[in-house]
Amino acid sequence: MDFSWNHDEKIFREEVRTFFKEYWSESTDTPERSIEKNHAFEKLLAEHGWLTMAWPTEYGGKNATHIEQMIFREEATLHEAPTGGMGPSMIGPCLIVHGTEEQKKEHLPVIARGESHWCQGFSEPGSGSDLASLQTRATRDGDDWVINGQKIWTSGAQHADWIHVLTRTDPEAPKHRGISYFMLDMKTDGISVRPIEQMHGARGFNETFFEEVRVPDKNMIGDENRGWYAATTTLDFERSGAHRAAAVQRAFTRNLDFLTANKEYSTKGNNRILMAETATELEIGRLFGYRVGWMQSKGLVPNYEASMSKVYNSELTQRQARRFINMLGLYGNLSSHSDYSALNGLATREYMSTVSSTIAAGTSEIQRNIIATRGLGLPRG
Ligand SMILES: Cc1cc2nc3c(=O)[nH]c(=O)nc-3n(C[C@H](O)[C@H](O)[C@H](O)COP(=O)(O)OP(=O)(O)OC[C@H]3O[C@@H](n4cnc5c(N)ncnc54)[C@H](O)[C@@H]3O)c2cc1C
Repeated sequence: MDFSWNHDEKIFREEVRTFFKEYWSESTDTPERSIEKNHAFEKLLAEHGWLTMAWPTEYGGKNATHIEQMIFREEATLHEAPTGGMGPSMIGPCLIVHGTEEQKKEHLPVIARGESHWCQGFSEPGSGSDLASLQTRATRDGDDWVINGQKIWTSGAQHADWIHVLTRTDPEAPKHRGISYFMLDMKTDGISVRPIEQMHGARGFNETFFEEVRVPDKNMIGDENRGWYAATTTLDFERSGAHRAAAVQRAFTRNLDFLTANKEYSTKGNNRILMAETATELEIGRLFGYRVGWMQSKGLVPNYEASMSKVYNSELTQRQARRFINMLGLYGNLSSHSDYSALNGLATREYMSTVSSTIAAGTSEIQRNIIATRGLGLPRG
């Protein structure tokens, strides 16, 4: 593995960085307004061919390298800019591996243009870590399937155009072998969405209900009853990426600026040592992310390597938030409503919002199970 960037990659990073500085400013709008702003900006990224740059040109990509795509995503995260959500990062790459030619032609160019937004209907009230136990049922009816059931924690469903859903199509088969994977237009009759409010006030995810929802057979990804195997590809892509370390880096740089400007905090207790620890761990987290990008650039499919990157960086996200709130002392616990809050209550908000990072995309325990079984070859329990 070569740890340095080549000449073209350095130039590309500079180009992207300059672009974000010039055209993107972090949003202070209402969530609804932010969504509109994000979608408009994603179209601008698409015009540059950046949204899906490593995809083949016939599907709206630029045939760029995975390393360039990783650089783009890293810079976007450092600038807190949107990158198109699950279309470019999860369902698109999964369709490239498992989709039919018709599915690729229908969906990939639209995603590449920033014109369709996706959500993921995997988890159910009784099936999260043990996802293969899911109960949402799809029954064949002529050329269609009819779906009934409920999903939960569906991020962004209230704004999505399409959903990719796991359903049970053979209740008699062993649980992993009776699942089929579908794509559905969110406007289809019978789909309804109910937002869930999180403890820090955001409404990021939802319950999604399916009542007699018809979906044509051509919208099935992979073969009937073999959807699990395509869905694990989607999950591998979900857990991949250097963006998690970049998100920690963004917060770290901001905290560093704050401590540098406020000596009463930077000289307090062991705050400098805590910052040094995070800086060291950030280097490790970044390399985990780069390893995954490098594997993709060599045509390999990261699996337990993606889990290593995910578990390390999501736990680092929490450690960094916890350390910073402790560094600020009692002021760190105050919300933005208090005149005495440091950094406008940001430490408190970040501490609460990072709780979910070790749950989303599979919990830390599940990532460690994957590393132990698929990585180390240890037997399943
Ligand atoms: C911010 C966020 C966004 C999300 N977005 C989506 C989305 O868009 N679409 C979607 O489908 N889902 C989404 N999820 C759901 C997420 O995938 C699940 O929450 C996650 O898989 C865990 O499932 P669960 O909540 O049912 O917990 P459970 O599976 O009930 O787990 C409870 C606890 O038991 C532990 N545990 C369970 N099984 C084992 C085991 N075999 N070994 C060791 N420990 C175990 C878990 O690690 C956890 O600590 C999101 C979650 C969050 C937090």
